[in-house]
Amino acid sequence: MRFAVFALVVGAAISSHSQETPGQPHKKSSSPFVQFDPVSKALLQPLHGQKSPLAWRKDFPGGWPAWRKAAREKLWELLGMDRMAAVAVKHRVNVKLGEVTQEDGYQRQRGEIETEPGVFIPFWVLTPTDSLSNKRPVALCAHGHDSDGWNTYAGVYRDEKHRRETLAKEGSPGVEAVRRGYVAVVPATRGLAKAVSITDRKGRHGNRNCRAQLVHCLLAGRTPLGERVWDSQRIIDWIIQDLQGVDTKKLVMLGNSGGGVLTLYAAALDDRIRVAIPSCSFTSFTSAEGFIFHCDCCLIPRAQSELCDLSDIGALAAPRALLAVHGRKDGLHHFDDVQNAMERVHLIYRAADAGDRFEHRWGDQGHQFYPQFIWPFIEKELEE
Ligand SMILES: [Zn+2]
Repeated sequence: MRFAVFALVVGAAISSHSQETPGQPHKKSSSPFVQFDPVSKALLQPLHGQKSPLAWRKDFPGGWPAWRKAAREKLWELLGMDRMAAVAVKHRVNVKLGEVTQEDGYQRQRGEIETEPGVFIPFWVLTPTDSLSNKRPVALCAHGHDSDGWNTYAGVYRDEKHRRETLAKEGSPGVEAVRRGYVAVVPATRGLAKAVSITDRKGRHGNRNCRAQLVHCLLAGRTPLGERVWDSQRIIDWIIQDLQGVDTKKLVMLGNSGGGVLTLYAAALDDRIRVAIPSCSFTSFTSAEGFIFHCDCCLIPRAQSELCDLSDIGALAAPRALLAVHGRKDGLHHFDDVQNAMERVHLIYRAADAGDRFEHRWGDQGHQFYPQFIWPFIEKELEE
């Protein structure tokens, strides 16, 4: 199999592209996201105030290209990708496709890919059934903390309640994509989908399978995000090599929440992703007070001490198109910290001479997709 090591680029500042929802002026929050007690403050102080050696800076030796190369190499290492490559070095990736079912305006097919020996990741492929004969763009849709997320994203509902709740928050991007003429590929995310999770026996890890995945990965020198990026890259290999009727130059990846985190890490390392859209996920590792925003399963050991903040990691997607979307009522994130992180992404994109390829938008609601921002951004990028 191939171990594509993917080359890329980045660059500098200001929130001119951080677009406010019309009618809602940019206002700074008046209060911190959390208040720590004095003991906690003292314990946190030496942890998150340190300088990150691979944080982007204008005077980085060799400039932006050299920074990007160094940061990507360190990210690859910290994710544990080399360990996965070593295990899979003689592995031949297998894909099996099941029967096709006809839905309203598209076909749905179940597939399964063996991304490393013995690891089978199920996925859905949704293909439009209109009369167009041109090659279609592809939308790779990554789900987050939903044990049934790959079904949710592909519109495969357990019952009427599941359908109603998903549609209410516009939570089936695979269906949205196929109805817009894209081939949608919707895999199960390792450690998040029940179908590909290690069970947390005896509740030792908080009754959370994703935390169990984290602990097992750390002992083995891996990370959950490394495994998820690995799976995404093997699926992209398959899309490019074998999926019929698609324009492989028009590959889009998107996801909400944990799926957004996966999207930004995959885009940071893989140049084949032309447009990346992390929704309700892309902020700094910590708030100004040291609160850690993301779930345990998003942990990258030593990221702050040996690499950089998550804002810099997301900016490794430059100069390719990147849209970050957040919800104003999303209780998992903080307005000021998001704004600061997004200004830093702009800074880096400008250093990469790609200031017009990054946008940031705020939706009016909570932790969900905002299709009204996502699809116009994608379509504008793919027209060029
Ligand atoms: Zn998690």
